[in-house]
Amino acid sequence: MIETIYIEKKIKNHPRTKSILSKFKKARFIEIDRYGEIFNKRNQNFRIQKFSPDLILAHKESGLVLPAPDGFGIGNSKNFYFSHMYNCIYDCRYCFLQGMYSSANYVIFVNFEDFDNALEKVIEENKSSKITFFSGYDCDSLALENVTGFAKHILGLFRKYPDIDLEFRTKSLQKDPFISGKFMENIILAYSLMPEAMSSALDNKTPTIAKRIDIMTTLAAKGWKIGLRFDPLIHGKNWKKLYGELFEKVFNSVPLKSIHSVSFGALRFPKQMFKNITKLYPEEKLFSGPLSNNDGIVSYDHDIEEEMISFCQDITTRYVDKSKIFKCSV
Ligand code: SF4
Repeated sequence: MIETIYIEKKIKNHPRTKSILSKFKKARFIEIDRYGEIFNKRNQNFRIQKFSPDLILAHKESGLVLPAPDGFGIGNSKNFYFSHMYNCIYDCRYCFLQGMYSSANYVIFVNFEDFDNALEKVIEENKSSKITFFSGYDCDSLALENVTGFAKHILGLFRKYPDIDLEFRTKSLQKDPFISGKFMENIILAYSLMPEAMSSALDNKTPTIAKRIDIMTTLAAKGWKIGLRFDPLIHGKNWKKLYGELFEKVFNSVPLKSIHSVSFGALRFPKQMFKNITKLYPEEKLFSGPLSNNDGIVSYDHDIEEEMISFCQDITTRYVDKSKIFKCSV
């Protein structure tokens, strides 16, 4: 339940602003000059704000589409990302956003048409390359779709570019923009997954893994391509058994021909981000596991990481061609 919505004066009369505000009739509206004055305020506490986040409607001025970091990709030579939103309605304990932002408030950028223009510019500049765009690097790309309508909007753009891939990464069960239209070969609906027992301890407020598998199965049946993101891989008691059971369930539910790609990434944080997160949750068991600082990145020891990834890859290759399996090292 959103109690307060901050609105940048510049977009207060934007049709999308009005449409979003109409969904929050009981909220208090406050005009501001720039979203940063609320979002970047000093001395905010992410953990406290997370109980009752406010919404900020803003205009994104720059950096609408950015190159993805090296090691982030699913087969194409060039990778870019964009975020129509900052922060997330879920509260995963390992989420890097809580270590990156001081505020848990949600920012929605309403100038979608500027994202269209920026995307088309990148497409034009990289005509000779195979490109993947990633939506949802600084948020869950679909979780607030019923408020933003962003996916529905951006699908329209990508229909014009069938050779350019777009991944929506999510833990949500949003299906409307996909169920209501014809499937598109260049769209990947990618779901983050981990064993149910781990997810119920770490993925706060998200749909269960069983429900995510159900929605993947439903969307695959409609022709949509599915991405499986086992990221982060979590170490712990019985991890082999738990991951083995998860793979069996996933690969026996989602039709194999619908699987676009599978990627694995171990739990990892930049050192400062790890410090920020552990300050918020000093008693969280996840952070007292076998983690160490490896060149400024806090992660499992190399041997553990390698063991986990090769165990998971070995099982996956029984179901999915090797060319569709990726390791995410970002
Ligand atoms: S779904 Fe993703 S963005 Fe949202 S809290 Fe979890 S890890 Fe963070």
